Amino acid sequence: MKALVTGGAGFIGSHLDELLLNAGHEVVAIDDLSTGSEANIRHLFGNSRFRFVLETIANEAVMDRLISECDMVFHLAAAVGVELIVRDPVHTIETNIMGSSIVLRVANRYRRKVMLASTSEIYGKSADVPFREDGDGVMGPTTHQRWAYANSKAMDEFLALAYHKQRGLPVVICRFFNTIGPRQTGRYGMVVPRFVRQALRGEPLTVYGDGQQSRCFADVADVIEAVLKLAAHPGAVGNVYNLGNTEEITIIDLAHRVIERTGSASTIATVPYDEAYEPGFEDMRRRVPDIGRAAALIGYQPRHSLNDTLDRIIAYYRTTERL
Ligand code: UDP
Repeated sequence: MKALVTGGAGFIGSHLDELLLNAGHEVVAIDDLSTGSEANIRHLFGNSRFRFVLETIANEAVMDRLISECDMVFHLAAAVGVELIVRDPVHTIETNIMGSSIVLRVANRYRRKVMLASTSEIYGKSADVPFREDGDGVMGPTTHQRWAYANSKAMDEFLALAYHKQRGLPVVICRFFNTIGPRQTGRYGMVVPRFVRQALRGEPLTVYGDGQQSRCFADVADVIEAVLKLAAHPGAVGNVYNLGNTEEITIIDLAHRVIERTGSASTIATVPYDEAYEPGFEDMRRRVPDIGRAAALIGYQPRHSLNDTLDRIIAYYRTTERL
């Protein structure tokens, strides 16, 4: 197969490129390098089955040509990272809604299957943990920028499902839950790469709020393997799948864990949410996926523990940044 990966120079996209190439496929990666980086894919440049296009997915003429030449689209390009979203909401909303609209419209023109990367943000402040795909999303007010991301991705899901129902376009939606691994940057807010860098530099680890909020961190390798299986499975078409790990940890415990595994002398500094993001910032207390649906269809079961993944990320930062 020839696959088009939008956001193919991003953290998850670059790992997906690799997995597709290793499975013998051809890959065209498109990325505007707004949050992605050439360093993530430079090692693939020598592969004759890999091509990189430096362009935005908002360029419909380019997307038309690339999608017409591919068999399937993995749509990962999006504005991501809570900090980036709060800082630049116009970019977030426009990239996510207009970008996905172009991808789906062109894919429909050529009848190409689309895997849409979505997010656990869709569940918003819901307290109905673990989150099931058919559970309610609970959004905050439009005056809080954080919710722009969840709503823009929800609109992407609506549009993808509408193309499927109304036009028969084959789509598969994967909701990623706090995916982590080598190459993820902490520049746009993600907690694990931030804590690891802070610990390796001997700086205080910045825990936002009281640190009692919890997350489940999934290894990118587990997530992309499931993405490929779902993309290939006829039974996944028209459906939504949670992809994540179910091992839950509070952010304060994560900070202690990172300090312990790096052997760092760093301390922990608590930072109020208002200072970290924006006044009135709302965070979710718990976020845990119910992964039963993907388990039933493709036997999805994460193989990496949080400790495994943290150790690989620590090793990555030690090598790439000589920390
Ligand atoms: N967080 C933190 N310190 C940081 C960055 C993030 O305590 O330097 C917290 C953040 O407030 C949230 C959790 O870590 O409660 C996960 O944040 P991230 O941005 O990685 O993902 P989210 O789950 O918010 O999408």
